[in-house]
Amino acid sequence: MAAISLSGIDKIYAGGTKAVDNLNLDVKDGEFMVLVGPSGCGKSTALRMIAGLEDISGGSLTIGDRVVNDLAPKDRDIAMVFQNYALYPHMTVEQNLAFGLQLRGTPKDEIKKRVAEAAKMLGLEPYLKRKPAALSGGQRQRVAMGRAIVREPQAFLMDEPLSNLDAKLRVSMRASLSQLHERLGVTTIYVTHDQVEAMTLGDRVAVLRDGKLQQVDTPQRLFDFP
Ligand code: ADP
Ligand code: ADP
Repeated sequence: MAAISLSGIDKIYAGGTKAVDNLNLDVKDGEFMVLVGPSGCGKSTALRMIAGLEDISGGSLTIGDRVVNDLAPKDRDIAMVFQNYALYPHMTVEQNLAFGLQLRGTPKDEIKKRVAEAAKMLGLEPYLKRKPAALSGGQRQRVAMGRAIVREPQAFLMDEPLSNLDAKLRVSMRASLSQLHERLGVTTIYVTHDQVEAMTLGDRVAVLRDGKLQQVDTPQRLFDFP
């Protein structure tokens, strides 16, 4: 687990769009931080810079005690969960969960242990031998989360992970996510355009507009909860 600190972060795309403008944000160790704002406000760009999937145009990004601006994604020790799940269709759930660890050379016994733990935590035990095509949307999203969890990263980055699910599943997955966070305590940055998601999940919520940070506060204070 690690704190994540963005200091004066800018993103200017080729073509000149300033997608992120002098973003300052300190995410505490173990905190669940939600980035919220309308489509096009720069949420995904900010998240992708933290993941290392997008170059940073200016400013400084720190994970733990390291400035990581120039580190490759695989050296940042963070795991990203996408809205389209990005599962391997020809592999079973079990193989999907194990694959990232195999690539990293994790010992077999350790992989077995972590896959079993994650499957238990996510209620995936009955589906381990199935392929993604034979799973529901909610189950696929659980596998995507399981793949992040087994890596035991310093932080999770999630880009609208629930947006492809129907309303009912979203509600139950929100509850599962909160429980997971309570249990694992891993620093999380979660992007959404959905205010309800922001309110129910975030320890704090950062509101972006036109690439700029407008506010960052607890949901209670931001949304004037009773
Ligand atoms: P959000 O995630 O809040 O919807 P994005 O980070 O996707 O916002 O986009 C922020 C701005 O940057 C938008 O104006 C978008 O059109 C622009 N943008 C995003 N990705 C690219 C890209 N690869 N090249 C050029 N402009 C981009
Ligand atoms: P979201 O709003 O969910 O982030 P988008 O549909 O805006 O997704 O963007 C989907 C993909 O297209 C992203 O990879 C983004 O970087 C890219 N993209 C978005 N806007 C632009 C743009 N103006 N020019 C080039 N690529 C873009």
